[in-house]
Amino acid sequence: MSVLTSREREILKAFVVTLIPGDFDRNKLVDKIDNHVGHFSSDVRLSFRFVLSLFDYGAIFYRFRFRTFRGLDKKWRGRYLEAWHTSWLAGKRALWRFLGAIVYSNYYSIPSVAAAVGYTPKFHAPLPEPSFPHENAFVKPFGHDIKEECEVCVIGSGAGGAAIAKTLAEAGRKVIILEDGGFFRAEDFGQDAVSEVKLLYRNGGVTNTFGYPAILVPVGKCVGGTTIINSGTCFRTPPQVLKRWADEFGLHAWSPEKMERYFSEVEKELGVEPAERAMLKNNTNVFKRGIESLGYTGAPLQRNAPKCCGSGTCVFGCPTNAKRSANLNYVPDSLKAGAKLYCHCRVSRFLYSGSHADTVIARFRDPVSHERLGTLEIKARVIILACGTFYTPTLLMRSHVPNPSGMIGHNLTIHPAAQVLGVFDEEIKAWNEIPQGWYVDALSGEGITFEGIFLPPSYTASKILHVGEKHREVMENYNKLASFGIMVSDTSHGRILRMPGGRALTIYNLNRTDVKKFIKGLEIVTEAFFAAGAKRVLLPIHIMPEITREEGATKLRSKKIRAKDLDLQAFHPLGTCRMGANPKEAVCDPYGRFYGLDNVFIADGSIFPTSLGVNPMVTIMAAAMKIGEYVDREVL
Ligand SMILES: Cc1cc2nc3c(=O)[nH]c(=O)nc-3n(C[C@H](O)[C@H](O)[C@H](O)COP(=O)(O)OP(=O)(O)OC[C@H]3O[C@@H](n4cnc5c(N)ncnc54)[C@H](O)[C@@H]3O)c2cc1C
Repeated sequence: MSVLTSREREILKAFVVTLIPGDFDRNKLVDKIDNHVGHFSSDVRLSFRFVLSLFDYGAIFYRFRFRTFRGLDKKWRGRYLEAWHTSWLAGKRALWRFLGAIVYSNYYSIPSVAAAVGYTPKFHAPLPEPSFPHENAFVKPFGHDIKEECEVCVIGSGAGGAAIAKTLAEAGRKVIILEDGGFFRAEDFGQDAVSEVKLLYRNGGVTNTFGYPAILVPVGKCVGGTTIINSGTCFRTPPQVLKRWADEFGLHAWSPEKMERYFSEVEKELGVEPAERAMLKNNTNVFKRGIESLGYTGAPLQRNAPKCCGSGTCVFGCPTNAKRSANLNYVPDSLKAGAKLYCHCRVSRFLYSGSHADTVIARFRDPVSHERLGTLEIKARVIILACGTFYTPTLLMRSHVPNPSGMIGHNLTIHPAAQVLGVFDEEIKAWNEIPQGWYVDALSGEGITFEGIFLPPSYTASKILHVGEKHREVMENYNKLASFGIMVSDTSHGRILRMPGGRALTIYNLNRTDVKKFIKGLEIVTEAFFAAGAKRVLLPIHIMPEITREEGATKLRSKKIRAKDLDLQAFHPLGTCRMGANPKEAVCDPYGRFYGLDNVFIADGSIFPTSLGVNPMVTIMAAAMKIGEYVDREVL
């Protein structure tokens, strides 16, 4: 699908030629990017086109050249691009990064380009998938309008939605699950990363916050939700977090003792066990060697992938079915217990009168053309919202529900993360193992944890803060890169704003306390890489993208690093419909019931009142089971 005009394609081509030196088929790459842009939401697509034009016409005012970017010669194009890249204006840098990251990820996802830098993965045959009654799963969108009735309508089939659907279906309740995305299997995975992102991620992978800094926060859009694209790390909620919830938010039913049974059941369902040592190879060993020499110790992470063979592509869908995402357990179990599932079906709102909601309104969409198809209207006794932290508050706002606490969409935490790359002389081939299999939590009391991370060339390329030849030189050493991540338990809070037309905008600014945690974490990872023998370290800091061994990690103290200088991502958004015993301060009660409507419950990451400081999937599933049991026992 082509969405760019011929003028926009010309600008893009000039941009590609300048950014990526060398001989390759530029038109093919422009086609690929054009197709990727077609998967963005209409707002992001519009922004992409606007930024392209801004970049082109902005050149008219550059050093009295009086030409658009397209009209500049090679030398001036290079200088102009460098000026955006190194601009002191954070907004300008962010816009250029937006274009640059999309171009780099598409270029390095071309299989021959990825192979040329040494990325040659081979995947094992997939493990068998669980069976389920196929007549209960409507995996294709309907072209005509339909009506349904049920006891419980669950909106969203991710960590929360899938777990609560199973709990209620197995309790004998008539359940219908509605999912905006499609139903995929292992045979659909293992393609190049950008193709998977278009298939499995919302908005072609471009969902982000606005603020200092702008942060990419990707989420899944498929049956199984974000569990399909996550790294498989499993943590229980830390006891001190549950204690804080009891003390500050009145969540006494969430004590470690009361949650124990739910955690155990989730872990059993997911097959949680420590990452197998044989699947932790050079990337883990290099970091382990470095960090242990600094006096810190780590351990293999608990994961939901008992037969993992280290394909290295967890976040693009597991090609071997080793990772037990919700599409391989909770969803088929729900279907076996009689639940129905509708895919490519987006809920636009629900209707209520007084304190009771009764009807869910959804529409099917064509997954390729995005054309709107038939509608689905469901009468339900109970409605469960499990659309995730960004879309549950948006759905509440679109349904014009009462908001007595004024807290819908507030209190967003994202557990921001940064990736650091070490460049070594030795061959590491970091893609050839579990990317997130080992961690260090020695500083978790300070809100800093270190977890493994490594990505295929496409998304590694988009993280390197160099351009042109320098960028290419790093990518030529792809097999000599090691990488580790830092996650910060945030004290910063964001919010989701309602925009005209039912759209939403996410605002989030990183506060100074959290910036300091990042700087401390970055210094430790940098020191660890140097101690392990790295020649240089590539940092997610615009004003300091690289430190050499000679300069040493203390260089990080030589400049004042601000939030706007950091290049971050986040994978654990939480909190926008927080639970609490006080209706004046919370969106839902301690059992997930929405304050204001008797039969609307929330069962996803949006209900947690604070950052967990750990990866949240197990907490979300345990919470959803607990809420499901309450609904079955007390409401239906
Ligand atoms: C790259 C990445 C790696 C991660 N790694 C880990 C990890 O290792 N361990 C861990 O614990 N966590 C990890 N996470 C986070 C974890 O997977 C999520 O926190 C969790 O899945 C969120 O669960 P949820 O139920 O809140 O939402 P989701 O799982 O996102 O599910 C929401 C579902 O609702 C659907 N939906 C939304 N709106 C509508 C609508 N209007 N109508 C119909 N359907 C709708 C969506 O399409 C989606 O499928 C990772 C996340 C990412 C992005």
